[in-house]
Amino acid sequence: MNTKMKNGPKPKAVNYRDVLESKAEEVRRSMSAQKAAQVVARLDCPSDEGDLSQQHHEEWIFLNRNTIDMKLLREIADALHRLDHGSYGVCLECEEAISPKRLDAVPWARYCVACQEAIAHRIAAGEQVDEYQAANR
Ligand SMILES: [Zn+2]
Repeated sequence: MNTKMKNGPKPKAVNYRDVLESKAEEVRRSMSAQKAAQVVARLDCPSDEGDLSQQHHEEWIFLNRNTIDMKLLREIADALHRLDHGSYGVCLECEEAISPKRLDAVPWARYCVACQEAIAHRIAAGEQVDEYQAANR
């Protein structure tokens, strides 16, 4: 966060579209960087036993990270969709406004803090919930 006061007449209004789009760009870039690193690693990898299990381990981490990134991209796309339809910043569960503080922290948040916690509890209790916010980080 930088404290810029000079640009624009509306100092408080955060442009969530910009925030979301640059975040999506950042995730995409990190995904392709990982992919490139993976390919390079494969090319100069002499495959004896030890390396193989190491490689499997790295592959697993890579896939796992990728899944999280895919989820995040989907959440960001959803948030942009909500921006287009004027429903951005409204909790999908209770339809109350999500606090700006929360949106600053998690611009793709779908639920207010209270609902997010309630959902987390339901998941912890073993309930199946459509919840792609587990990727909050
Ligand atoms: Zn709510």
